[in-house]
Amino acid sequence: MRRVGPNSFTEIYFAGCNPSFVETTDGYVMIDSPQQPIDAVRWRERMEEKAPIRYLINTEPHGDHISGNAYFPKVTVVGQVKLQECFERYLYAFGTLEEKRERFKESDPDSVWLVGHPDYPASNPPTLTFTDDLTLNVGNHTFNIVHMPGHTAPQTSIHVPEEGIVFTGDNVFYKCRTWLQECDPWEWLAALKSIDALDVETIIPGHGDPCTKAYLKEQGQIVENWVGCIERFVDRGLTAEDVLKEPIEVTEQDPYPIGQRLFMHNERLTDMIVRNLHQRILAKKQQPGAA
Ligand SMILES: [Zn+2]
Repeated sequence: MRRVGPNSFTEIYFAGCNPSFVETTDGYVMIDSPQQPIDAVRWRERMEEKAPIRYLINTEPHGDHISGNAYFPKVTVVGQVKLQECFERYLYAFGTLEEKRERFKESDPDSVWLVGHPDYPASNPPTLTFTDDLTLNVGNHTFNIVHMPGHTAPQTSIHVPEEGIVFTGDNVFYKCRTWLQECDPWEWLAALKSIDALDVETIIPGHGDPCTKAYLKEQGQIVENWVGCIERFVDRGLTAEDVLKEPIEVTEQDPYPIGQRLFMHNERLTDMIVRNLHQRILAKKQQPGAA
């Protein structure tokens, strides 16, 4: 747990994303939830001992940001309207509760008893939604919740001016490998510009250490490198399958190692990035009026 603003904290050492919270004069506002059930339950009990949790805001639909929501059953979850629509699909993207429980027997025995526990619902999707933006005033704090599609379609940033902070979810990966497996890269670059325009000192990324706006240029460069790399293959007329047979210098596009203890997925991620960007670049080139 690290203090990142006068009343803001983030957890960068858990398996999963960087769940965070702001302590207001009227209780807590959380940004994303701890991925592992035991971490989520421990967090909630520590917080509720001190003050109520008013809201839980999700930045994106990936499982490492939303699967802990279930362990905050009485808390109102806030999310972009598309996130509400796709919540269940993403939650079960990696299997049923039964399959999850089996996996935890190996990877996280302390969490096994909490999977499907009768005190908790199977899921806790957003019930308070917005399309473009939403402002919540809680105690003396303002939460400007803004749709910034890029890494995912419902991607959301939470700007807290009193703290000089923006929580971006995975539109920023600080010095760990960037996941572009379903992104719209052009929207992502626009989102980075929007983040850069905010008056903030600190960015809380979805993964990796807190950083400053100085890192946004590098983050944008990684997105641009990947687009350029795949675009050269598309221009040569290669299909996604052809591209995957070519040598791809991953570290020339993105110099950082994969984070989140997901080393075993490193090659699969390259495969997913190639397929996503190939399809999007090709579609863009085939649009009427495209050069
Ligand atoms: Zn993500």
